[in-house]
Parts: sequence; structure tokens; C-alpha cells
Amino acid sequence: MSTNSELFDEARSVIPGGVDSPVRAYGNVGGVPRFIERASGPWLWDAEGTRYLDLVCTWGPALLGHSRPEVVSAVQSAAARGLSFGAPTATETELAEEVRRRVPPAERVRFVSTGTEATMTAIRLARGATGRDLIIKFAGNYHGHSDGLLAAAGSGVATAGLPGSAGVPAGVTASTLVLPYNDEAALRAAFQARGDEIAGVIVEASAANMGVVPPRPGFNAAIRRITAEHGALMIVDEVLTGFRCGPSGFWGFQQDRQESYRPDLFTFGKVVGGGMPLAALGGRAEVMDLLSPTGPVYQAGTLSGNPLATIAGLTTLQLADDDVYERLDERSEAWRGALAEALEAAGVPFVINNASNLFSVFMGEAPARDGVADYEQAQAQSAEAYTAFFHAMLDAGVNLPPSCFEAWFLSDAHDEEAFEVFSDALPGACEAAAR
Ligand code: PLP
Repeated sequence: MSTNSELFDEARSVIPGGVDSPVRAYGNVGGVPRFIERASGPWLWDAEGTRYLDLVCTWGPALLGHSRPEVVSAVQSAAARGLSFGAPTATETELAEEVRRRVPPAERVRFVSTGTEATMTAIRLARGATGRDLIIKFAGNYHGHSDGLLAAAGSGVATAGLPGSAGVPAGVTASTLVLPYNDEAALRAAFQARGDEIAGVIVEASAANMGVVPPRPGFNAAIRRITAEHGALMIVDEVLTGFRCGPSGFWGFQQDRQESYRPDLFTFGKVVGGGMPLAALGGRAEVMDLLSPTGPVYQAGTLSGNPLATIAGLTTLQLADDDVYERLDERSEAWRGALAEALEAAGVPFVINNASNLFSVFMGEAPARDGVADYEQAQAQSAEAYTAFFHAMLDAGVNLPPSCFEAWFLSDAHDEEAFEVFSDALPGACEAAAR
């Protein structure tokens, strides 16, 4: 049996950094990533046979827990009928209808394979629909790794985005304006200055890639009003929050409880594919119909709407009824409560933010006590305290996101036993964070 260390060394000799997506390499927290062999319910088992309670849930898709038998068997029987056809299937239509049932403004839905593709296509569509080039995104919001969306976070005022990665031409990100999140005045100012050049605004339904940072009441509705006043499109990115923060995503959660707004376009990913490579964009029919083959905006994919991925997504959504979301909400509250209690007992200063059932913790003196509202405040947290906490939890058998800028994910499988493992691990980890 190989150890995680041996597997990591071997992987690094053939795969850059030993991983296929950077955060998996533990760069932010140090140490050796666990090489996973199997997963079931809320549990993961690594190559050394150690079991972990998982609060990453494959970065969101595992809403029902890992390897839910109904989902696995639906994928198995689809696989027996063929892995990919490169031709339409009825399951794609069924899943598109399920997405529209839950999110009615998604009048038309197109499936792609990754969230990156979904947001990239939504932006192309916004530009195609308006004949304008500029896109606004918000600092600390992540929309995947397409060139134009890898603009560095600007601070305070609207700035022409600088590339956040080598290999991205400055000319490309010059068409991306980066504004501070939750800052309606900055958005108004940007539209006043350049409104007739702006094709659209893309925003996470709730920011969850700088830790969880919910929109201030009225912020998303204000984006809708301002974009509509200027003939620009509003793109709500629900890749992470969609079908997780509620049956109709964080948009639906806000509709029910906070505020009503109707975006032009949505992007979905993660839960919509139930753990398989699938994502989608959806929106107003007249905008979506600009996509090829009905319109002039090109988009395509060999594996788009893959039959294994669509059946995994459809089965997951069919199982994710209102009771599932109710349980998740209750669970999230209980788990947040246990975390807060343990941090208080150990004397660690902290803020726990949540957006419906999604949550994350910001440790240290600096984060705003009344809740972290933007990227600047999120960056003020103590990464050192989180690192100590992370490793102590891992040693106690709990797999947390290996970065303080990520959301924590629960699932319908996180039962009493899982909660006990979590709460037993907390006191020691909070003490480690306090040191
Ligand atoms: N948009 C959001 C809000 C995300 O959280 C992510 C990924 O985490 C993406 C887009 C990109 O999705 P993918 O990693 O499937 O390309």
C-alpha cells in the first residue's frame, strides 16, 4: 500500500503540482493532500485506509452525500446503454425542464461540461446580445478560469482589471471592470461613466469563493435595476449556490425571503450534474435563442449534455425535495452553532458568515465583527489561525476546505454520527487556532 506522501511524490513527477486543480495541492495550508480511494455518504477514505468526515463534498456537487445509491445505479444503467452519443437525448430535455421548473426565469437551458464554460458562454451571449464589450465583475467573486474573468480584484473604485494569471493578455481583461462587492454606489458610478459600453454584470448569487459573503439586502435587486436602466444584462452565477442554497438556488431563497429580481441569465454547475461533469446556462428565451444554431453566438461541446452526467443531475434533483433542503438548513444552523461555541470557548475571535445553508468562518481580530461584506474584509482574516485549525481537524478525521477562502459544504448524508465526529474534533482544533 502506498502512502499519501508516496502517491503525491509520484503524481508530482507527471502532473504539475501533482493535482488537476490547484487548491487540491494544499498550497494554502501546507502538508500532503489525501489521495482518495472511495467515498460514501459524508465519508471519504484515503489511500492509507483512513476515514474522514468530508465538509468539502467535492466542492459542492454532493448535495445528497457521496455515492447515493439511486444516483450511482442510474449512472450505471446509463453507462450500460452507451457513454456518449454526440446526439440529443431525451434526458437532456427532462433535466432542462427540471431546471426551468425550479428557476422559471431560465426559460431556455443549454448544458455544457464545466462552470467555466457556462460563465464564458453567458458573457459571450451578453456581448452578442448588446453589441457591447465591457463586463463588470466583483472583487472576490470567482466565475471559473476563462481569460476575461481572471481579472485581479480591484480595490475601492472601478479599475480596468489586471490579469490575475500569467498568460492572460492585458487586452482581454481590459474589457473587465472589477468593482468592490456589495457596493451599489461603485456600480452606479461605473454605469454613469461608461454605461453605454457595458454588456453585462456578472455576480455570484451569493459570493462564496472568498469565504461565504452574502449580498447585502437589496444589492442583487439594485444590480438588476441599474443594468436594466442602461440596457445591460444581469448574469447571476449560481454554479456554486444553485440547487444547494434552496430548491431554486440562492436566487430562489432571496425571492422567498428577501427580494425579488429577474436576471437575464443564470449559470449553474456542481449540483446540477450530481457529481458528474455538467454545468448549464439558462435565461430569457430571446437572449438564449441567440446561441447557435438558432442565433449568431457560437457555442458547442463534444461532451455537452453527456448522458451519464445528465442522468446523474436529473436523479439528484429528483431526490432533492423540500425536505432535503429543510434538513440542510437545520443542520447548517446546528453545525454553525457548535463551531461558534467551540471558538468562543477557546477565545478565538471569529465571524461565521452564511448564505442560507452555506457557511464559512473568518478567524482573527481584523474581520469586521458585524459580518464580512467584501473581499478586502475577507482578506483581513488570519490565514495562520485557519491553517492550525484545518490541520488539527484533519488529524482528528475531518476534511475541511484547505483554504480559508472557501465555503464549507454539508449534505443530506451528514447525520448524527457525522455531527459527533465534527463536534468532538472542534475543541482541540479551536485551541490550535488560538495559539
Ligand atoms: N462560478 C462559480 C461561482 C464557482 O464557484 C465555480 C467553481 O468553483 C465556477 C464558476 C467554475 O466552475 P468549474 O470549476 O466547474 O469550471
